Amino acid sequence: MDYDYLIVGQGLAGTSLAWHLHQCGKKFLIVNDSTRPAASLVAAGIFNPLTGRKLVKTWLADELFPYARRFYGELEETLQARFLHYINIYRPYRSVEEQNSYLAQTAEPGIGPYIQQPPANLPYNDYLYAPHGGLEVTGSGWVDLPLFLLKSQEYFQQGGQYREGFFNPDDMVLSGDTVEWNGLRIGKVIFCQGVDALSNTLFNWLPFNPVKGQILEIALDKYPIDRIVNQGIFILPDGEGKCRLGATYSWHDLDWETTEEGRQYLEEKAKGVLKVPYQVLKQRAGLRPSSKDRRPLVGFHPQFQQVGVFNGLGTKGVTLAPYFAANLVEYMEKGKDLNLLVNIGRYFSLYYQ
Ligand SMILES: Cc1cc2nc3c(=O)[nH]c(=O)nc-3n(C[C@H](O)[C@H](O)[C@H](O)COP(=O)(O)OP(=O)(O)OC[C@H]3O[C@@H](n4cnc5c(N)ncnc54)[C@H](O)[C@@H]3O)c2cc1C
Repeated sequence: MDYDYLIVGQGLAGTSLAWHLHQCGKKFLIVNDSTRPAASLVAAGIFNPLTGRKLVKTWLADELFPYARRFYGELEETLQARFLHYINIYRPYRSVEEQNSYLAQTAEPGIGPYIQQPPANLPYNDYLYAPHGGLEVTGSGWVDLPLFLLKSQEYFQQGGQYREGFFNPDDMVLSGDTVEWNGLRIGKVIFCQGVDALSNTLFNWLPFNPVKGQILEIALDKYPIDRIVNQGIFILPDGEGKCRLGATYSWHDLDWETTEEGRQYLEEKAKGVLKVPYQVLKQRAGLRPSSKDRRPLVGFHPQFQQVGVFNGLGTKGVTLAPYFAANLVEYMEKGKDLNLLVNIGRYFSLYYQ
């Protein structure tokens, strides 16, 4: 065997999987085409345990968040780079009713530990419309994904574990329980292609439901708020005088192009939150690889056990990727169960239709 594993794609999914295989001492090769767009390079990278208008606790937050913090934290040491940023999320109340309902929620045992009162000395009122005050979500922050991916790529390149280029699934020969590709014999090929999985006939029968998203990069003069502000949109300070403002969600026009409509939507939302002027520096668009049931898509092909998929990270790749990469590697290497809610076995009936 030349490689135990070949990973197709080096976005968040492929990178998280590679690190877990690396930690197990497995022989693997990543093949990634960096001329193609990647959601991971567009994403704001925010992790937030309480989301939505109603402060709903994110699925599996108590397991996913500590695992993700350890994963990125340890890799900061290995890679000698800083990409994990802990920042609270400030949520201005929209009304007195919202203030009352949020405060009632703080008494709930699952939610309370993730909420705290904002410090009195932050000049929120000079910069934001927050007449009723607000609360802070803790255990949140953001990961600088482009930096994390770049540093990981350099690391794997140095170890001869990264190859640049397009992987065509038609070039594989599936023989016995291994794969032949380009004169190499490989144990398993795992596709971590994001939305490109839609053009891979081995896995395009899975119920993907891509969601287009756009974000703006803006410059604000001397903006002092070192929190992520979240009210319908997020305003994420990058620590270098710029902020990211996002995001849009759309299920049509599924391409990687920015639109005037997207910019207008975000600017309209920003007007309701920001009191101060800003300048738009950049606009980015990407496709989130979501699934119909909003759960990851992980596991092996129903007919070819030597080809697998790690996908469907949707809107929450930052916390889902490390935890389910660990689950997949434990399944492959230690025979542990794959979480049934992410296992693509739940969709095999679609394949046989
Ligand atoms: C606007 C926006 C904002 C977002 N904000 C957040 C956020 O704040 N927090 C969060 O957790 N998530 C966020 N997300 C979601 C997050 O980006 C995704 O969940 C995650 O990045 C998906 O990673 P992936 O590796 O599955 O896919 P991708 O990042 O798209 O990576 C796929 C990779 O595979 C490569 N590839 C595909 N096919 C081939 C092939 N045949 N050969 C070689 N290479 C191939 C591609 O080139 C690409 O590099 C956001 C997404 C968008 C679009």
